[in-house]
Amino acid sequence: MINVINPAYGTLVGQVHNASISECLAAVDAAHDAFPAWKATSPRQRGEILRTAFELMMASQEELARLITQENGKVLADARAEVAYAAEFFRWFGEEAVRIDGDYRRAPNGNNWLLVMRQPVGVALLATPWNFPAAMATRKIAPALAAGCTVVLKPAHETPLTALAVGEILQRAGVPDGVVSITVADPPGPAVEAMLDSGKVRKLSFTGSTRVGSMLLAHAAKHVINCSMELGGNAPLVVFDDADLDVAIEGTMLAKMRNGGAACTAANRLFVHERVYDEFADRLTQKMALLRLGDGLDLSTNVGPLVSLAQQQRVAALVDTAKHEGARATCGGTAADDASFGYHPTVLTDVALNASILKEEIFGPVAPLVRFTDSDDIVEHSNAVEHGLVSYIFTRDIGRGMRLAEALETGMVGLNRGLVSDPAAPFGGVKASGLGREGAHDGLLAFLETKYVAGNW
Ligand code: NAD
Repeated sequence: MINVINPAYGTLVGQVHNASISECLAAVDAAHDAFPAWKATSPRQRGEILRTAFELMMASQEELARLITQENGKVLADARAEVAYAAEFFRWFGEEAVRIDGDYRRAPNGNNWLLVMRQPVGVALLATPWNFPAAMATRKIAPALAAGCTVVLKPAHETPLTALAVGEILQRAGVPDGVVSITVADPPGPAVEAMLDSGKVRKLSFTGSTRVGSMLLAHAAKHVINCSMELGGNAPLVVFDDADLDVAIEGTMLAKMRNGGAACTAANRLFVHERVYDEFADRLTQKMALLRLGDGLDLSTNVGPLVSLAQQQRVAALVDTAKHEGARATCGGTAADDASFGYHPTVLTDVALNASILKEEIFGPVAPLVRFTDSDDIVEHSNAVEHGLVSYIFTRDIGRGMRLAEALETGMVGLNRGLVSDPAAPFGGVKASGLGREGAHDGLLAFLETKYVAGNW
């Protein structure tokens, strides 16, 4: 059995069955057997099932949000927002299911015809992280089902209860047996590898760390499996001296503190122009110091604990090293002194450009502020990491903002905004942050193959 722990107390929330490798392979077999019939359903039928799943999920918003908070730790407001975001993928891809297009063209030589059609890739293996246990699952399941693929979802073992609840919703919405299976396996490596080796999986869609993603890419390469990778981030957030500081502070709070900092999109490196640095640091410190850390189910709490003791210790070590390297904590800077896995919201000032904390994903409520003088250097500073998921820019000069948006090596940019996630937008990164996009029409294309018929008639 796998124990699911409430990170607010370190206590047991529930237990789930730990799937053996043969059970994981049986789920792949079931997906493989269900594929021909599911592929043959009409796009409208698939769309309506997804629409029903959206409605059922929203009808259970509160119940699901409480479950997310209990196993993940995020505060209830974040959990409710996650359920709405997650459900929206069912609605969006329910609408996209009827928009699988093709193409019909005359060849340039004028003699032949080119007919292009799209077909579902086949059985898809989906692996998701603990930080958005509902939304990362629906962001994959919804486009896969819309495209006509069948799936096996392997959620993170820290947060399996939400994934299983999503599975139940899909069943109630009318998804036939075998089309969606959920297998929770710990350790995950052997189970995922066996499923990739089964010869029946044609698509791997993974969200998680760059380390695991690149290992799985290497494994999938053996069988030339189609891969989509949503990996880690290390987002720069740039505040120019002409920024509207009210907007910049609000955007920074969102970009940093959504999900208690445990988001791939979290602002990790805050570059602030020297002319506004002190005021920005003071105002951000005031806001962060007001946040109350505690059990996410308590409505007076603004920040929940991190997901595990290991994660708490990792964040604490990053902050201690930063302090050792000369940074100053203007608020926070310590772990919770109770049994929870909490870490106090922290602002670090005087962070040097080469500080270690800027080199890795923090994944916690810590905002390191770096002072910059010359705006011409900001592209180089921002791009100086292996990751390239998202960046944030705050300036009143839209021309400057757009020039920077073009120059930054990230898949997404927030311009005077601290939140980019939207099911209707293509979400994804460049460099070590991943391959492919989720959401938007692009998310559907990730589960479709293009077939071309060269005709002469
Ligand atoms: P993780 O890589 O440890 O785990 C992700 C998934 O992979 C889980 O299901 C896990 O069980 C599985 N896994 C772990 N080791 C494996 C192995 N050896 N073989 C096969 N599967 C394995 O990541 P995490 O700690 O759960 O999540 C945090 C990471 O996810 C962060 O780096 C974050 O940036 C990233 N993330 C990215 C996005 C995005 O859209 N780009 C979204 C959310 C999270």
